[in-house]
Amino acid sequence: MIQQVPEDGTLLPLMEEFYTIQGEGYNTGKAAYFIRLGGCDVGCHWCDVKESWDASLHPLTQADTIVEHALQYPAKTVVITGGEPLLYNLDYLTAKLKENGIKTFIETSGAYPLSGHWDWICLSPKKFKAPLLPIAGEADELKIIVFNKSDFSWAEQHAQQVSATCKLFLQPEWSKAKEITPLIVDYVMNNPKWEISLQTHKYLNIP
Ligand code: SF4
Repeated sequence: MIQQVPEDGTLLPLMEEFYTIQGEGYNTGKAAYFIRLGGCDVGCHWCDVKESWDASLHPLTQADTIVEHALQYPAKTVVITGGEPLLYNLDYLTAKLKENGIKTFIETSGAYPLSGHWDWICLSPKKFKAPLLPIAGEADELKIIVFNKSDFSWAEQHAQQVSATCKLFLQPEWSKAKEITPLIVDYVMNNPKWEISLQTHKYLNIP
């Protein structure tokens, strides 16, 4: 179904869009308009948005319409997420958002080539489909989801690939948070280049 999406990025499979507070990572606590695109083949077994995976379930929507919707809210920031949003050419959508004075943030696994014009790139690589190397150098934030102890050494491997200014976050996988959070606390105290990211939107019970 991915092939049906025009390569010029003027139409995108939109799963949902909503105005909320960014709950995790560097921009935690900031209001933003979330644009969730359908389609992902990374296959994380703990994924909490599996309904995003099949792009064909999500209507192709004019990028211009998405921009109009984003403009209706006070925070002039969007977070484009998925699914895996870099399955699609995001040059058109992000150019239009920026023309309208909206800051563009992305959440990506990095498994597909980078497109778009970004104010903030959050790279959250997954073991199930490795990120492409060039995006590591562009990332403003590296966010590693920790599911088990072996993920700490995996996180360090990725930290070596990002730029010196890239912010480093360890975030407990939600279903394992009780067990993993104390390990992350210890790890960050011993390795303070890392910071803790929590999914505060889930604690706040907001989208
Ligand atoms: S990359 Fe994201 S959307 Fe895709 S399977 Fe993993 S957690 Fe789910």
